[in-house]
Amino acid sequence: MFKKLYVFVLFILITSQTLWAQQDFKDLPTLKNKHILMVWGGWEGHKPKEFTDRVAKWLSSQGANVLIFDTLSVYTDSLLLAKQDLIIQYHTMGSITKDQNKGLLTAVKNGIGIAGCHGGLGDSFRQETHYQYMVGGQWVEHPGGKINYKVDITNQNDPVTAGLKDFDIQDTEQYFMHVDPNVKVLATTTFNDEFDSWIKGAVMPVSWKKYYGKGRVFYLSIGHNPKDFDNASAWALLTRGIAWASDSRKGPTEKWLSPLYPSHTKLK
Ligand SMILES: [Zn+2]
Repeated sequence: MFKKLYVFVLFILITSQTLWAQQDFKDLPTLKNKHILMVWGGWEGHKPKEFTDRVAKWLSSQGANVLIFDTLSVYTDSLLLAKQDLIIQYHTMGSITKDQNKGLLTAVKNGIGIAGCHGGLGDSFRQETHYQYMVGGQWVEHPGGKINYKVDITNQNDPVTAGLKDFDIQDTEQYFMHVDPNVKVLATTTFNDEFDSWIKGAVMPVSWKKYYGKGRVFYLSIGHNPKDFDNASAWALLTRGIAWASDSRKGPTEKWLSPLYPSHTKLK
């Protein structure tokens, strides 16, 4: 009797978790058979290899074909890039050659997606303004260093964030960024006056999506340490964003421009 009950409870648990997982990726493209290029390097303090291995393991479990490079020279291989659906880059600071940067930007413009987080995408090559034009933002400060803060999900209509709830995240960096005011913001955070009094109440995007040419761009500012993604909500944001960005070549082109400032027409 008890054995039967145990089996039944186990069955319910497994099915509900499967349903939950499907619900989690509702209206998002599949990663099955997608070709994904992961590139890591730069500042070691961000543990870029550990981050890459963690995401690669999940991508493989979703049926994606993953290639991993620890050098930016792969960006000059246009034939290889043309076969990929998505680049996931974790490369903080450092520098990129003109040819590598051109190869990367051309590939995204032609329809490969790009996704990433924290300094791995949003603080990569500080000298390259055209790279920042593609990403849509650049890190400038993280007041207080590693702190606890709240993330607000501000867009419930987009499949990347639909159904996600606001959440708290601990012992990590709250990124203050210079952001393109036209990106489609999915989540924000609000600064207090504990470290820098003059930014009390400043609202900053934590995650956004945009296009660069035909390529989909997804960014998330969480991710100072791979352990940030032990937080289920942070992991959901990252993985859902990756799924969306992987579909540049096959999915429809979405309207993404969300101009933040009133136009001259409206001011008249
Ligand atoms: Zn960091």
